[in-house]
Amino acid sequence: MKVLVVEDERPISDLIAVYLEREGYDVHTSFDGESGLECAQSETFDLIILDVGLPKLDGTQICRQLRASNNWTPIIFCTARDDEVDRILGLELGADDYVTKPFSPRELVARVKAVVRRSAQITSETLDEEGVQLNLKTRRASHHGIPVVLTATEFDLVAYLMARPGQVIERSELLENVWGYSEGLGTRTVDVHIAQIRTKLGIDAPIRTVRGVGYAWEAPTHESLT
Ligand code: CA
Repeated sequence: MKVLVVEDERPISDLIAVYLEREGYDVHTSFDGESGLECAQSETFDLIILDVGLPKLDGTQICRQLRASNNWTPIIFCTARDDEVDRILGLELGADDYVTKPFSPRELVARVKAVVRRSAQITSETLDEEGVQLNLKTRRASHHGIPVVLTATEFDLVAYLMARPGQVIERSELLENVWGYSEGLGTRTVDVHIAQIRTKLGIDAPIRTVRGVGYAWEAPTHESLT
């Protein structure tokens, strides 16, 4: 298990590294945003521990750039202040978890284990949820073993939902993360693409509409079919 720690405060990054190495993790460290992003893009990690306040490029920018390039390595943010937590959640960056400084190394290790366990499937090459399979490398999709041809945007949209099974994802989050921007795009854009995906997958397409909120990747219930 490889973990990248991007943290400019050396005592903190050293402490994190010591605790994670003790648990058998292979720990790499970066001390500023630029080198952290470069490292995250050039190597494959099982998890990234990302400080929010970093020189050159802050943690939220790194996360955004990784997600925009379809890198779904799980991220745990470290924040110095409670108001940064609001910012992280408000930005809908797709963070997997966060810890607020000062945190106990034991707590962080527990979070790391939980996130790695939860996202084992997300970091793999394929997603397989509710009868739909996506190969993230070849970008091929199938439904109950039958190939489905999706456009690039449809594929990314399905991948985003499938990586978070059962979670209700707001339209704005989808616009931000799948399209990479939301300015000038209405939430109707999302609805149109979802409708196309449903047509391609058929009546048992595992997409649940949560009226007024967004969508969730879930097996259709009897109720939603009526
Ligand atoms: Ca910092």
